[in-house]
Amino acid sequence: MHDICMYDVIIIGAGAAGMMCAISSARNDKKVLLLEKLPKIGAKLKATGGGKCNLTNTLKIEEFMDGFGRNGRFMSDALSVFDNKKTVEFFKSIGVKTDCLDGFRVFPDSHNSGSVLSALEDEMKRLHVKIICAYEIKKIEVKDNKIVGVDDFKSKNVVIATGGLGYPTLGAHGDGYRLAKIYGHKITQLNPAMMPLHVKETWVTNCRADTIPKAIVQVNLPKHKKLKATGDLIFTKTGIRGPVVLDFSREITPLLKKYNEVPLSVNMINGKNEEDIRLHVKKNSDKNILEIIVMLLPKSVALELLKLCQIESTCKYKNIDGIKRDRLIRTMAKTPLTVTGHDGFSKAMITRGGVSLKQINPKTMQSKLVKGLYFCGEVVDLDGKCGGYNLQWSFSSGYLAGELIK
Ligand SMILES: Cc1cc2nc3c(=O)[nH]c(=O)nc-3n(C[C@H](O)[C@H](O)[C@H](O)COP(=O)(O)OP(=O)(O)OC[C@H]3O[C@@H](n4cnc5c(N)ncnc54)[C@H](O)[C@@H]3O)c2cc1C
Repeated sequence: MHDICMYDVIIIGAGAAGMMCAISSARNDKKVLLLEKLPKIGAKLKATGGGKCNLTNTLKIEEFMDGFGRNGRFMSDALSVFDNKKTVEFFKSIGVKTDCLDGFRVFPDSHNSGSVLSALEDEMKRLHVKIICAYEIKKIEVKDNKIVGVDDFKSKNVVIATGGLGYPTLGAHGDGYRLAKIYGHKITQLNPAMMPLHVKETWVTNCRADTIPKAIVQVNLPKHKKLKATGDLIFTKTGIRGPVVLDFSREITPLLKKYNEVPLSVNMINGKNEEDIRLHVKKNSDKNILEIIVMLLPKSVALELLKLCQIESTCKYKNIDGIKRDRLIRTMAKTPLTVTGHDGFSKAMITRGGVSLKQINPKTMQSKLVKGLYFCGEVVDLDGKCGGYNLQWSFSSGYLAGELIK
């Protein structure tokens, strides 16, 4: 009985990081046990990229690390062992060809996350990784600061690959943080990130049909004006979403905690400033104002901005009084929106914060406090931008930990 339960490594969590860790370890002839809380493996992986699975991107290592902010350099060792090119080669080796239609984001060429998951599953089967699903861990056994096992399963190595707190329906319940804390690890402040935001302005609800390309969103708070992002913007019933918002939201959540509301100024006209707009309007001053604005903005937004400035859409520009003209031009260049909240972790694709990097050796992903305890994937204090960053980190860290486990 004892013999059956002895493993070289036990991995907790069968997400992107845990599965990659299982494969790299098993390819080194290690006996691997993968424990998953949900009835099936890879639930979050399946939901990624709107079901298409944006596996990685084409950035060079330095630029890639920049996408994770200040903590990004921690990834250097893992990326030097397993970067985006290795990821593409790896997936090819297990039968998943990739494509990169926009030159940046890499997807499986099937554009179906299911194909990625079943290839990983097949590879784990081939390597005889033992997988137990619907398994709730009770305890990691530690003696004299060394790993002994998990519950009745014995091993000198345990990997915590339990992900973050975002989308609890996909298995994210923060168990990894709880387990790490028991053994003395610090957990940095946890905030939901990469999610839609609620705004105070109710007019946005009337603009849901249109996507604004290359919107520039900037925080309008004296100390935080440097916080700026550019990308496609979409209005929702209660706020804003779209790639620019997903990336930006991780900056907004800490500010919301501090200020309750976060004023934004949004440029929806390709970065045109007040002077550019004035010239455009003057050139077309014989037309009515709505006709002039729809040359720059979708009609739904144009109508709402006119309402905000109390200008009739049928009015000729020359008949609008000076104060209202100025107000309209200002509003077009810097449309004010006020973020008031969000749906928390329930809609957060990523968790900002996690197991402190100070207590993890970046060369191995092993804990500096407990011998044989490893962390990989989203559970550590790293969160990247939208565009394949976070899966790549999960693959890189999972691969590194798995490869080095003795
Ligand atoms: C909707 C959505 C879309 C996304 N799209 C993309 C994308 O296209 N590209 C990209 O790069 N990133 C994307 N992300 C982010 C990316 O999915 C995550 O960063 C990544 O999956 C994290 O991998 P992980 O293995 O660390 O954690 P997870 O994938 O969350 O896996 C952790 C696993 O551990 C299990 N677990 C938790 N606790 C326990 C326990 N106590 N015992 C056993 N098992 C446990 C969970 O059930 C889960 O299966 C997306 C996220 C979401 C929510």
